Amino acid sequence: MDSLIKLQEIDTQIYALHSEKSAKPAQIKELENIFESKKSHMAELEKQALDLAKQKKDKELELASKEEAAVKLQGQLYSLKTNKEYQTMLQQIQDAKADASVIEDKILEILEESDKLKAVVEQEKLKIKEEEKLFLLDKSKIETRLKEIDDRLSQLEATRKQAVVDIEAKILSQYERILTSRDGLAIVTVNDNSCGGCNMFVPPQVINLIKMYERIITCETCNRMLYIDEANGQESS
Ligand SMILES: [Zn+2]
Repeated sequence: MDSLIKLQEIDTQIYALHSEKSAKPAQIKELENIFESKKSHMAELEKQALDLAKQKKDKELELASKEEAAVKLQGQLYSLKTNKEYQTMLQQIQDAKADASVIEDKILEILEESDKLKAVVEQEKLKIKEEEKLFLLDKSKIETRLKEIDDRLSQLEATRKQAVVDIEAKILSQYERILTSRDGLAIVTVNDNSCGGCNMFVPPQVINLIKMYERIITCETCNRMLYIDEANGQESS
């Protein structure tokens, strides 16, 4: 019985470490997702900056063609025959110049906007750098813990090998069957007439059987092996 209890102490640690270990990849993935979403915000800002640059280029082309048109009209101005034609073309030149000025204003607006955006992008870049540092730090903490867990697990596996040598094969296999099917808890104490595993009532006659230590008694509900922790003064009532 004592060697089973000792084995359970080892297995409890092994199960806890395995369960901690199995949660780690999800934690790393979560950190990655958070960081990626921050980076995607950055990418969105950079895309906006590109859009503005393209708008500016389009407007500059438009401006150049308006100016070119005005110059061309200006050149034709003196070849005109009548005053009416002359006035009409003068108006056209004025219109083209007015259009050009509107486009120029628009270009200035875009420049202003793109300067503001550039400042935001620069700030965001610094922030992302900080975020990346934190992300890598958190990730390396998890990886360090994983390494600790693996080291501890190999120690425990070695201790376990020692611990099972003096346990009867049949009992050991029964224990291991329960261990696997009951989430790593195969042997439990009886506290105040209830099973330490499932809390169900353990009748006094069963407690008496346990106390005889003739064979292994299991809980009728959860099937775990039961023992009385004499050191803690369990009463059979
Ligand atoms: Zn039980």
